[in-house]
Amino acid sequence: MERDLNAELAKYGGNPKPTKKQKSPKKELNSKSQLSKGEGLKRKTKLKSKHNPIPLEVKKAVLEEKGSLCFLGHCPICGGMARVTVKDDAHHFPHRSQGGKDIVEHLWPCRRDCHRAIHDAPWMERLMFQEMETAGISVVWKVAVKEQLPDVRKKVVDNS
Ligand SMILES: [Zn+2]
Ligand SMILES: [Zn+2]
Repeated sequence: MERDLNAELAKYGGNPKPTKKQKSPKKELNSKSQLSKGEGLKRKTKLKSKHNPIPLEVKKAVLEEKGSLCFLGHCPICGGMARVTVKDDAHHFPHRSQGGKDIVEHLWPCRRDCHRAIHDAPWMERLMFQEMETAGISVVWKVAVKEQLPDVRKKVVDNS
């Protein structure tokens, strides 16, 4: 009897209904993938919050080439007489947002407090660099976008 029924179903193109079995595993997969997505997002935000500090070798090269006086002795805050060490973060001019890179030409030794102050007063920063240029120091005012600066940075690291 059963065989006959199956044969008749096949004739009419009837298929067995497997929908019930497929639905239940799909629900489990959805809930699992949602959990893993949440974990992934948390990790990504932690990595993004890391800032990239100036490499120690580059800071050493800046102090060697430009000296250890705050802003080469032209600092309007401390008078330029304070000594800068590799523990202080050099100032980017041009700023990083304006194309400044971790190279000696774009980095200026300065004390932490003076660094903060110069960021709060862009007009004072401009005056200071104008004064430096008048004193014969070569100041980069703008970065040419077409120039390939990563290559220059590699050279600086190799030489030191
Ligand atoms: Zn200073
Ligand atoms: Zn700075």
